[in-house]
Amino acid sequence: MQSSNLKITDMQVFDLDGLPKKITLIKIFTNSGVVGYGELRDASSRNYATMLKSRILGENPLNIDKIFRKIRQFGNHSRQGGGVSGVEVALMDIAGKYWNVPCWQLMGGKYRDAIRIYCDTDVDAGAGDGGMSMGRALKKRMSDGFTMLKMDLGIGLLMNMPGMLNAPLGLLDEMKQYASYTTDVPHGSAQLSDLRWKAYDLNTMEHPFTGIHITEKGMDYLENYVQTVRSGIGYDIPLAIDHFGHVCAEDCIRFALRVEKYNPAWFEDPVPWQYTDQYRMIRERTSIPLCTGEDIYGLDAFKGLIDHHAISIAHPDVLTAGGMRETKRIGDYAYEHGVAVALHMAESPVGAMAAVHVGAALPQLLAMEFHSADTADWQDIVTGLPMPLIQGGFIQVPDKPGLGIDSLVEDELVRHANAAYPAEWLDTRAWDNEICNDRQWS
Ligand SMILES: [Mg+2]
Repeated sequence: MQSSNLKITDMQVFDLDGLPKKITLIKIFTNSGVVGYGELRDASSRNYATMLKSRILGENPLNIDKIFRKIRQFGNHSRQGGGVSGVEVALMDIAGKYWNVPCWQLMGGKYRDAIRIYCDTDVDAGAGDGGMSMGRALKKRMSDGFTMLKMDLGIGLLMNMPGMLNAPLGLLDEMKQYASYTTDVPHGSAQLSDLRWKAYDLNTMEHPFTGIHITEKGMDYLENYVQTVRSGIGYDIPLAIDHFGHVCAEDCIRFALRVEKYNPAWFEDPVPWQYTDQYRMIRERTSIPLCTGEDIYGLDAFKGLIDHHAISIAHPDVLTAGGMRETKRIGDYAYEHGVAVALHMAESPVGAMAAVHVGAALPQLLAMEFHSADTADWQDIVTGLPMPLIQGGFIQVPDKPGLGIDSLVEDELVRHANAAYPAEWLDTRAWDNEICNDRQWS
């Protein structure tokens, strides 16, 4: 079919769980028979995608920029970026398949043939073993071939040990009871119960407002933890730190000064990304590179952090940032300002391949994250990729059209259906005529 005659005819969504988190897959159909695959960021809502359906029906899917500008206003930070981002990924997949080129070619070509992968690594916080089990978990990553590491390390480790934290009396007990997700190392996706009533209030209390402080004894524990981990894995491999917990910037500085000597590769999301000045304050006091961005939608918000010299590493997630091309724009802007990029990725093979193509097209990629090293059947929902996808700590950049995925394995999708929303490829006709005046000026 001639390119100018291509049209979007339908969109369907399928809610999954356990890959490794709750995600929503998107299929966008065209009158040429080409189908594009996309994905919403973990713990998002399918409705952020379905509400876009009436805006894209009948559009030519090859006009990615035009469609993106039309729907961009319906995305926002964190999970609210999922709809726009997922649709954009599906359009890129369609364009690649139609023109018979890989998505990285649509972003100007590639800088590398393989993407370095690092695994987010958490161990049960209750272990209280001062980093021994984390050291073992990270050694296992190294023996599996990974060449960069990241560990979760923060106040979740200290919650059940006396004298490690102080806080307005009663607050820590309330957090343990209602919002362990806030303080503990997060496994899987947020549950509905984490997002309502008392739990909501606690979960959404930002770092500067909790009043939680780490005592010197707590700092001693965390410092010894890092030292123990380093003595297990050595000093030759980069080791990043994530999920520090909801404490103020001043405590982040105290911690950073303690552990600089163990050479953390970066300190991730120490405070909410919105607080540019607090990032600057931490950055001016420590030599540990600061990293944030997995919850940022669009280049404009990254510009604030980059222009104000607040971060050393931008950390966008393709499925929040606005899709593949917007993440490429973020990476290019960061590059012009001497800021590195690591890609956040906690999603299914569809989201992973979207990140692989972006990573290939960025000049300064450090590495891409992977959350599914311990999820054996993670890759079974797709065909057409090398098995296993990660070999020797790298993912090869495919030359196949689009994302490089041949097909989705429907039986495996059904097996991973989200029990709360089990409809297979939900019929979205109810959204066909959703309409409002989208013009943002008069
Ligand atoms: Mg993170």
